[in-house]
Amino acid sequence: MGSDRLTAPVFSLQHFCLHDGPGIRSLVFFKGCPLRCAWCQNPESWRPAPEIGFREDRCIGCGACIEVCPTGAAAGADGACTRCFACVDRCPTGARVRFGQDREVSSLLADLAPEFPLMADSGGGVTLSGGEPVLHAAFARVLTSALQERGVHVALSTCGFFAETDLGSQHPVAGLLLSVDLILFDLKVWDPDQHVRLCKRENRSIRENFTRLQRAYLDRAAPPVWPRIPLVPGITDTRENLTQWAGFLRDRQCGHVTVVPYHDMGANKRQWLGLDPSPIRGEMGDDGVNRAKSILAQQGIVSFSPGEEAWEIIDPARP
Ligand code: SF4
Ligand code: SF4
Repeated sequence: MGSDRLTAPVFSLQHFCLHDGPGIRSLVFFKGCPLRCAWCQNPESWRPAPEIGFREDRCIGCGACIEVCPTGAAAGADGACTRCFACVDRCPTGARVRFGQDREVSSLLADLAPEFPLMADSGGGVTLSGGEPVLHAAFARVLTSALQERGVHVALSTCGFFAETDLGSQHPVAGLLLSVDLILFDLKVWDPDQHVRLCKRENRSIRENFTRLQRAYLDRAAPPVWPRIPLVPGITDTRENLTQWAGFLRDRQCGHVTVVPYHDMGANKRQWLGLDPSPIRGEMGDDGVNRAKSILAQQGIVSFSPGEEAWEIIDPARP
């Protein structure tokens, strides 16, 4: 397969990260997500195509964007934007913000390569994140192979929402998930109705996909699956939600989880993208995290904060 012909929309590349897998890592954030979680901190990941945000606080009304726009969209003509990004390039103040760019595997490798020695020294690697990397399975698979050929450990962070048939043996999603070295799997809201209300999708397939991947891991047919629960105040941090997920994990011979505290970092970006404000209020402090960890411990699940995981427990966990 000619890897240079493939592209995928990527909205951010972050280096020297410590919270999304072992060691020091670079994160590749793909655009496009099937969920719309009320607490999402990366709303620029939702739509699959590159897009434009507008920071009203930075606009000085110079009119350069309108002057350069070939379609009238910058002046407010509805639906006329062709995403040529001429206005972003011309805007003198950064009021017009570009989110996402179609990237080729070779250009991502070139950006990631300077960090390869540090990744190797720290036991780190690259984490494919998003958005949902599984939406770009063919591209992500080629990128994964190219990284692994260079000795780089590849983790993949997923929301777990994909068709169960995607885990069939010939499917590109299965090919991707079985080829990475570690799967970070988000478990959010246990209650199905609440999940639909807060994430806009059902969670039956998420539970089923976790179950199938974990079973495959225990059968030595899949990489380790490491669950993560975002701790959102009053929603995912409740005793009931945590107890349900703890039972779910125990039943699947998984005794650990990472709890990721919610911080309100997506509010501005929602505004720039013209999205409704998040209904979530408050942040998750240390007391809330400790309380959640204690509930999980009472249920027999060891929990970790991001960056503090005992990754070495992965293999002994497998019979
Ligand atoms: S991206 Fe291009 S078409 Fe869209 S508003 Fe900017 S200049 Fe106009
Ligand atoms: S070019 Fe930028 S600063 Fe000037 S009017 Fe357009 S958005 Fe505002």
